[in-house]
Amino acid sequence: MKIFDQIESEVQSYARSFPRIFNRAQGEFLYDEEGNQYLDFLAGAGTLNYGHNNPLFKSLLLDYIQADGITHGLDMHTRAKGEFLEAFNEKILKPRNLEYVMQFTGPTGTNAVEAALKLARNVTGRENIISFTNGFHGVSLGSLAATGNSHHRGAAGASLSGVSRMPYDGYLGDEVDTTEYLDKVLCDSSSGVDLPAAVVVETVQGEGGINAASFEWLRNLEKVCRKHEVLLIVDDIQAGCGRTGTYFSFEEAGITPDIVTLSKSLGGYGLPFAVVLFRPELDQWKPGEHNGTFRGNNFAFVTAKAAIDHYWSDDQFSKEIKRKGQYVSERLEKIVELYGDGNFSTRGRGMFQGINCVNGEIASKITSACFKQGLIIETSGADDQVVKFLCPLVISDESLAKGIDIVEQAIKEVCASENEIPEDNCYFDTVYLSEAS
Ligand code: PLP
Repeated sequence: MKIFDQIESEVQSYARSFPRIFNRAQGEFLYDEEGNQYLDFLAGAGTLNYGHNNPLFKSLLLDYIQADGITHGLDMHTRAKGEFLEAFNEKILKPRNLEYVMQFTGPTGTNAVEAALKLARNVTGRENIISFTNGFHGVSLGSLAATGNSHHRGAAGASLSGVSRMPYDGYLGDEVDTTEYLDKVLCDSSSGVDLPAAVVVETVQGEGGINAASFEWLRNLEKVCRKHEVLLIVDDIQAGCGRTGTYFSFEEAGITPDIVTLSKSLGGYGLPFAVVLFRPELDQWKPGEHNGTFRGNNFAFVTAKAAIDHYWSDDQFSKEIKRKGQYVSERLEKIVELYGDGNFSTRGRGMFQGINCVNGEIASKITSACFKQGLIIETSGADDQVVKFLCPLVISDESLAKGIDIVEQAIKEVCASENEIPEDNCYFDTVYLSEAS
């Protein structure tokens, strides 16, 4: 269709990597107008953890629409919102001993981050925020100031202020605990880093290249925050909602952030929805101070509640994610060992993993080769050097194995054509999940 070239802005990005017209989707599959099927290892950039058009949520949503349930509710109390809040409190917060209040923000991740930063600044009366190298928090000005990526920062057209950058876990090598540096600069009144209102961190950096912080580093970070009375914000927009194996990505580290942002898969069905969670004492907002017309997406409340009821009433789903995550790790490690020539490496946690191909050109050749074989998979990282595995968490074992087979074949071909390994050094012996476990 010519219309896309005629009037859609040049700002589009995913459409360039996957130039097809898609018209249908189900589970882990997308279909184009010619009827071709694609395995989706991008999953709406982490929004479709429960798959496309999850049938359970769809029927509840259709019933709700059929009954003329509220669609748009500003921030008014509606039954759908109340039921979502109850489900979230009973099945997500209470079992984890988390006492948070919930703020509904505009429905994008970046708006939740904006609200979190504003709240931290207003509560503490401090302006500075600490964020980390390769962190990504969105592209509106406040979140963008906390984002590292120069491509995105360069588009701001205004100065991005109020944020100091610190090295993320592993940035200075495995031997260096960068929280010690943070502690040092916060202790030193001449370090040039003003005492911040908050530290904002992703436990696994998604857009920054699937960098997973160690649990020890996260615990040390929490300790430094407590020591200096700085608020800890975990941006769980991409890593949360089960992606790493637990509902919140910070659970296994045993830390309790003061503020948490959630979006992407929170709505369950791919519907726009974002919230901020924070300790009740921090709830110092005045009515309407941070508002937004679309804070009441009631369709998302219906499907978000369905996702919680169905997938998070017990620990079965979490176990499933971990089982699949283990399979992904084993497969990726083998691929790296066979084709990586000592340069490639694996990274990530749970179903949030990647292969660092070191070079963005190679990673992009790999994802293009995958697309030709019917797999939608993207890259991330400063130079787009990491092939990023972000498939729906509900993916079948068979599709998971098939998608990784396609990546493996693509890596083999690309590495062979780059003359990095001989063509006959071939590993293509698929171990299916059921056999592996
Ligand atoms: N925070 C994190 C960790 C993200 O990964 C993203 C998006 O990828 C955002 C914030 C911004 O979310 P949105 O694109 O919905 O504004």
